[in-house]
Amino acid sequence: MIIKKVRARKIRDSREDWTIEVEVNGCRASSPSGKSTGKYESKPYYKSLDYCVKFLNKWKDNVEINSFWDLKEVERIIRKRLKVRDVKKFGGNALFAFESAILKALARAKKKELWEIIPGRKKIPVPVGNAVGGGVHSSNFKVHPVFQEFLIIPREKSFKKNYMALKKLYKKIGKILRAKKRNDEGAWQTSLDEIEILRVLRKKLKADIGIDVAASSFYKKRDYKYRTVFVSKSEQIDYMNNLVDIFGVKYLEDPVQEEDFDGFSKISNRTMVVGDDLIATQINRLKRAIKENSVNAMIIKPNQNGSLLEVRDVFEICKKNKIKAVISHRSGETMDNALADYAVGFGADYIKTGIYGEVRQSKLDRLARIEKDR
Ligand code: PEP
Ligand code: MG
Repeated sequence: MIIKKVRARKIRDSREDWTIEVEVNGCRASSPSGKSTGKYESKPYYKSLDYCVKFLNKWKDNVEINSFWDLKEVERIIRKRLKVRDVKKFGGNALFAFESAILKALARAKKKELWEIIPGRKKIPVPVGNAVGGGVHSSNFKVHPVFQEFLIIPREKSFKKNYMALKKLYKKIGKILRAKKRNDEGAWQTSLDEIEILRVLRKKLKADIGIDVAASSFYKKRDYKYRTVFVSKSEQIDYMNNLVDIFGVKYLEDPVQEEDFDGFSKISNRTMVVGDDLIATQINRLKRAIKENSVNAMIIKPNQNGSLLEVRDVFEICKKNKIKAVISHRSGETMDNALADYAVGFGADYIKTGIYGEVRQSKLDRLARIEKDR
């Protein structure tokens, strides 16, 4: 396949913010965008969204793409044109949407599904669903839990069954909480605090419980701020380990702030210790986390890096080091469901998405379809 026609434009995401959509030979891909962004993730755009749109609309190189690996040539051209050493300088969002559109066009040219042309061990992931929200994703609600996400992980035998279980549990939780409103990701909104929510989830659900603590979002100078109470590093670690022991929390994302590799390493390994802001889908941060024994699982957000070649390396490093790979949506999403194909193609162990709303379900529906057709 030859890259013949590249078009880029601005579109709105689920939060009504602008994001980028790129079209290659008629195949479209777009990028989601985060709100609880990690300090170490790639900037979304080189200079600005408008600059990247213009840059892509001027693309004239007829690069030949026969496999995933030919993205190398595309990245070489971008580096040369921008006069940068690191292709990610083009921006996580801009680069991801462009590469994703190229791969969609390649899949179509080969009459294959997107996931089939992705190099990896091919696996249907287990869904991790965001059921109750808090933190910055709920910042338009006056009273909300400090932790960002209360997650449920079903334990059924197939993806379809897991998906159905997620929907059922989500409804049930809404009823128990008497919740009426939903946040940015379609998670239930409540004024209950963290412990009250965990009590409800533990008692009522036959599913594993997870939390995205997103600790950097309430880390102020040297302490963690819980409403009016300030908590030190060692108290935060004890608190997290108590949640694992008392509530049987099986998944704990960003339990301490994003600079604290040492703090992560002190979290009990009876739970999945998941690095999101800590690693920000960057290879150098992942290597450090491995060296310091900080995590046994990590979040992989393709647009947090931008280069799908590097995202592939991240999956490989995880596999070699027995780190569970959790591919993830962003809080601002589009209808693009390619995340599901990357999950299967690269072989993610888990996929973190919302449960409610069409931008969330588009990914889950796609996975159910892949499971059925494979
Ligand atoms: C997250 O922190 O896991 C997340 C999905 O947030 P965002 O997309 O806002 O960075
Ligand atoms: Mg997170």
